[in-house]
Amino acid sequence: MTADVDVVVVGLGPGGEALATGLARAGLEVAAVDERLVGGECPYYGCVPTKMMVRAADVLAESRRVPDLAGRSSQTPAWDPVARRIRDEATDDWDDTAAVKRLEDAGVRFVRGHGRLAGERIVDVEGTVLQARRGVVLNTGTTPALPPVDGLADTPYWTNRDAVRAERLPESMAVIGGGAIGVELAQAFARFGVRVTVLEVADRILSPEEPESSALVGGVFAREGIEVRAGVRIGSVAHDGHRFAVRVGEQSIEAERLLVAAGRRPNLPDVGLETVGLDPGARSVPVDERMRAAEGLWAIGDITGKGAFTHMSMYQAGVAQRDILGQDGPPASYHAVPRVTFTDPEVGSVGMTEQQARDAGLTVRVGLTDLTASTRGWIHMAGNEGLVKLVEDADRGVLVGATSAGPTGGEVLSMLTTAVHAAVPTATLRSMIYAYPTFHRAVEDALSRLA
Ligand SMILES: Cc1cc2nc3c(=O)[nH]c(=O)nc-3n(C[C@H](O)[C@H](O)[C@H](O)COP(=O)(O)OP(=O)(O)OC[C@H]3O[C@@H](n4cnc5c(N)ncnc54)[C@H](O)[C@@H]3O)c2cc1C
Repeated sequence: MTADVDVVVVGLGPGGEALATGLARAGLEVAAVDERLVGGECPYYGCVPTKMMVRAADVLAESRRVPDLAGRSSQTPAWDPVARRIRDEATDDWDDTAAVKRLEDAGVRFVRGHGRLAGERIVDVEGTVLQARRGVVLNTGTTPALPPVDGLADTPYWTNRDAVRAERLPESMAVIGGGAIGVELAQAFARFGVRVTVLEVADRILSPEEPESSALVGGVFAREGIEVRAGVRIGSVAHDGHRFAVRVGEQSIEAERLLVAAGRRPNLPDVGLETVGLDPGARSVPVDERMRAAEGLWAIGDITGKGAFTHMSMYQAGVAQRDILGQDGPPASYHAVPRVTFTDPEVGSVGMTEQQARDAGLTVRVGLTDLTASTRGWIHMAGNEGLVKLVEDADRGVLVGATSAGPTGGEVLSMLTTAVHAAVPTATLRSMIYAYPTFHRAVEDALSRLA
């Protein structure tokens, strides 16, 4: 069967879903293809269910702070409300009927199945051939990656996709990977009473972030009883039918569950990139500032390698939509990409780290301040750990990167993202009035320390 449409969107992660809907609302004939769930990783296995876990775990942590501040509290953590909320509210029991209806109500023709490019502007979905007059958009996203560890593939390990479906918590868990996903899940499970060990190959957890952020989260983890082993080499993994044994050097770490959070693999090897002259073995699809990857082909989301975030997928969808519709608008720019690791303290950051700025040859000045020393941090007391770190290009007198970690680190980040995005002069930031006593006042202190 063959069908002619204006645009075919292959893969309906957050950006693909928004783009297909937006193009259809603008009057184009759109076909949208997904082999799994419409909406992609974020609503069913990523951002939304994991942040529901984090929210519940944070409530427990706050109630444990009551004795320091407000009397006595007792609690009996239970996982059932979290599992129920994820199943019923976040994912509709991993059913995308409502999302498909939203697409179809917007006028999109939805095709379930594996989409593959079969030449310029042609997509083959398991025998159904979709011919696109304007072009094809790829938004095929990523899959959890499995590190090449002896024995691991033969064990019943978990990835994020299993962790968010957990109906019952294990008594212990080893986590391979101390990146954002690994540390968020490690802390959430630990706060519900799971004994957690995080194993990280790099010499620190959250290695893409500032070293101060890694130390901050590592310190909180130690106080909460989460064991972190950084700089380790994992020799092998075995499962005896009941428990995992993870070989690290001479030691064996035993746990009831093993969560693998060791990066993501782009869904690119089987999408027919070679039929349009692109490398099917590449880790990402190179795109220009309008998200064009080849003649009649756009790519958006994690597969572009510009940052694996839902907000990136949505941002790039907007850029691609304007290009496909022939509308004016700013081209894609990546100098102020914000990201938040939703641990407690939350680690928000934007733009370059200090090291990246130095490696780029900039004349760097850094301002660092400790949130516990701020008035709001002191008032907040229990759970007040945090910091603000600013990275200035001293020649231009603008911030090129910033970190805000703390109880509301991801929210304080908004003003820093504005500053980096709009290249607001640091002199202007210094002349602002900062409300007292807020966490964001620490930004003013960090500015005064730029050196
Ligand atoms: C545990 C976890 C937590 C996260 N938390 C956050 C967070 O807090 N904030 C944040 O911004 N980001 C977060 N992310 C990242 C976020 O989920 C992704 O960046 C986001 O989903 C955007 O991905 P995408 O649009 O590239 O595609 P995806 O969401 O990966 O979707 C791709 C879609 O394409 C489909 N597909 C793939 N190949 C084909 C094919 N050949 N044919 C048809 N369909 C195909 C898949 O079935 C899927 O539905 C998290 C990720 C994980 C795993």
